[in-house]
Amino acid sequence: MFFDDPQMLSLGLDEQEHKNYSHNKITYNKLMSKIQAKARQEAKLNYCYYCKKEVSSFCNSHSVPQFCLRRIAADGKVYYANTLIDLPFMRSEQGVNEAGTFQLICRACDSKIFQQYEDPTAYQAKPTGQMLAQIAMKDYLQMIYKRLHEEALYRLMGAELGAPTNYVDHNHEIISLDLSEYSSSFSRAQIGSLGKHNDWYYLCYYKKLNYTVPIAFQGGVVMVCDFEDDVINDIYNMSPDYHTKEIHIAVFPLEQESIIMLFIDARDKRYRKFYKQLNKLPLEEQLSAINYIIFSYSENVYISKSIDESILTNEHFVATCQKSSIATASHPFGNALNAAVAEFSLSKRNEIPNLLSEEFRLA
Ligand SMILES: [Zn+2]
Repeated sequence: MFFDDPQMLSLGLDEQEHKNYSHNKITYNKLMSKIQAKARQEAKLNYCYYCKKEVSSFCNSHSVPQFCLRRIAADGKVYYANTLIDLPFMRSEQGVNEAGTFQLICRACDSKIFQQYEDPTAYQAKPTGQMLAQIAMKDYLQMIYKRLHEEALYRLMGAELGAPTNYVDHNHEIISLDLSEYSSSFSRAQIGSLGKHNDWYYLCYYKKLNYTVPIAFQGGVVMVCDFEDDVINDIYNMSPDYHTKEIHIAVFPLEQESIIMLFIDARDKRYRKFYKQLNKLPLEEQLSAINYIIFSYSENVYISKSIDESILTNEHFVATCQKSSIATASHPFGNALNAAVAEFSLSKRNEIPNLLSEEFRLA
């Protein structure tokens, strides 16, 4: 039983797949949860990724600070992005304690290495360089954890579901290139997070809104194109000398306010045109673009359960959440880059509800 599109793990199923799934629901659920659990187990390291000390148990680290999740939760629950991606075998809502967690560092490290940025009172002023480095550090940990998990998953797909060897090898090659880039980016953030290099990350967009938005997000995103559909990252360039670059995005809902910020590695010039275009737009348009970028490029976004059901079932919104550069990356033929630009074009930003706008405020 091999599915030749492993991206179904991060995307929605089509109608036929849905039918197949409904007919074999129990077998399918059992098999997938068995393989997922096994992959999680096999992906586990035996040392803390931060302090490198040997450990047998890891902290359940949150990708988004807990104070943000608590702020938007109802009865201790938040919607997870896959509510919209509609994967029937994954739960659509999660408790605050389990949403978007990763197990890569020890408890002692988790309790101290993110301290500055995970303190809601720190946002009375603009974030410091040290806070940005801490955010970047966590973004990379999250990305590394995801790749380690996928590495094990592909291995198991080969071993247990009969996926072809060249297919598994090809994916392992991509994963190992990503992992080596992420690990060097992590090391830079780790040094920056100690507070002595306040200019290593550049805050290219920052807004404090005077209302609480109903979503929480933090992550590194590899953008394909800017507002003029000019390419930022050529995601199909497989040359070892070419590196894709992330832009870090954070949306932190606070008690009565929200922080929206974008930042980059200060050495990186690739996003300059994009953030200049962004900063020139009226606020409402800025927010709608950031909202679109988050939902089209990432799965790691948490949504308040108080959001109206009609939004979660909005056709354009669901389709946007199902976009994935991984999916398009699996078809590297012909004008794949043009197709990706069309797919992620920011000109579509107003086609989906803008959850960052005041209209959807929680408070
Ligand atoms: Zn540690």
